[in-house]
Amino acid sequence: MRITDIKIAGVSFGALDRPFWNSIVRTTGSGGGRIEIHTDAGVVGMAPCGASAVRKAHILGSIKSKLVGEDPLRIGHLWDRMYMGGTRKPVAKGEYITSMSAVDNALWDLMGKALGQPVWKLAGGVQDRVAAYAAGGYYEEGKGIPELCAELAGYAAAGFRAVKMKVGWRGVTLRHDAERVRAVRDAVGLDVDLMVDANNAWDAQTALRFGRMIEEFDPYWFEEPVRADDFRGGALLVEKLDVPIASGENEFTRWGARDLIDARAADIIQLDPNMCGGISEWLKVAALASAYHLKISPHGAPHVGSCCVAAVDNGLVTENYPTAFNNPLMKPVDFRADGYIYMSDAPGLGIEWDEDVFRRHAAR
Ligand SMILES: [Mg+2]
Repeated sequence: MRITDIKIAGVSFGALDRPFWNSIVRTTGSGGGRIEIHTDAGVVGMAPCGASAVRKAHILGSIKSKLVGEDPLRIGHLWDRMYMGGTRKPVAKGEYITSMSAVDNALWDLMGKALGQPVWKLAGGVQDRVAAYAAGGYYEEGKGIPELCAELAGYAAAGFRAVKMKVGWRGVTLRHDAERVRAVRDAVGLDVDLMVDANNAWDAQTALRFGRMIEEFDPYWFEEPVRADDFRGGALLVEKLDVPIASGENEFTRWGARDLIDARAADIIQLDPNMCGGISEWLKVAALASAYHLKISPHGAPHVGSCCVAAVDNGLVTENYPTAFNNPLMKPVDFRADGYIYMSDAPGLGIEWDEDVFRRHAAR
């Protein structure tokens, strides 16, 4: 079997009625896309893929030129070819690695379809269902503490045993953010795990002050309290707080994960298989974390994330967006009211694409 073509299909759903934001990023519109890797055997590997101009330039330019004509089942060989490839210097972090990730994930989907097996099993198959948490609790215009509490209590009522909220926006005080956390803890009760995500908002001393304010509300983890490259700051918080520190969604490859872990800057590792170098690289990161007895909980949508968590012995919990970033291109994963995603036996990544949505919104 040989790769014959690579395509990207992008769609735009336009502006959101209600923009939302975390401590750093304001989301005002929605869209998405899919990468397709075609072969001479008729098998097509697909994976979620952004369709920005830079993503298309990387994948349809340099990467495609390295992959067409190659055997798609030699995924490790193709990863090395994309990473080094002879036509460029290696890029250790950033957009090119994210572009490689979509290609790698589509190759895993292709392999699963060629073999008639689901990726989560081919990659290890440790768990046949994976815990999922609801990521929400964003800031919005007119959204006060009662509305925030209603949102997160709604996730708990839908079966989520863990929910996550945002903190760290400059528009509110530390004291107010701590009050938001207290109110949500009261609203969801003591039996639901509550994650708190600052999206790199603070310097270490500010994050330490905030961490001490919310320790009494028993957060399950405190996510990205400091800048992604502030390993010293992360290590200070790991040392000083009794709350586990989660980080890594802005880190790339096994080598980035090594530096994060070596610095003891996180208790829970969050590299994203859609960004860190793909499922191939994520599995290496998971093995590295396992050697240090660290749990791994991937950032990002559950379609690829659940396959990753299911595959490994130290997979903790899968991120899930019940409302924000909900992507209608892909039918929802099989989340049930006991708090778990049940893994599918469908070949490949098990993603059911909605072709009607693609047709109706095809834009870019
Ligand atoms: Mg996060």
